[in-house]
Amino acid sequence: MSDCIFCKIIDGEIPASKVYEDEHVLAFLDISQVTKGHTLVIPKVHKENVYELTPEIASHLFSVIPKITNAMKTEFNPIGLNLLNNNGELAGQSVFHFHLHIIPRYGHGDGFG
Ligand code: 5GP
Ligand code: ZN
Repeated sequence: MSDCIFCKIIDGEIPASKVYEDEHVLAFLDISQVTKGHTLVIPKVHKENVYELTPEIASHLFSVIPKITNAMKTEFNPIGLNLLNNNGELAGQSVFHFHLHIIPRYGHGDGFG
């Protein structure tokens, strides 16, 4: 999608700090770090929200989550971790290309929750 920020990141038109990449998935640091290491995981194909995902896209995306989260655990040593996905404006979605937030947690008052 030509006017999608995340498609532009996939295409390299907008820079991002990449955390993980394969043929179908890209993970990169959120520009606004809610907590240190806050990461977004997206399918490389433009799908607006969870309703548009195919089982294949969803299962591949989730299959790489343990690898990404274990790498984050090693690098940032959080106490906990939130996985979050917003669908629709009311639910807090601001970029309409499906993304899963991975938010490392460091304690009460760490900026999230
Ligand atoms: P949502 O509110 O849709 O669940 O999350 C969208 C996220 O995308 C926000 O946390 C926002 O900070 C992040 N974001 C928006 N624009 C950019 C960008 O250009 N680069 C990166 N790395 N993150 C972005
Ligand atoms: Zn897109």
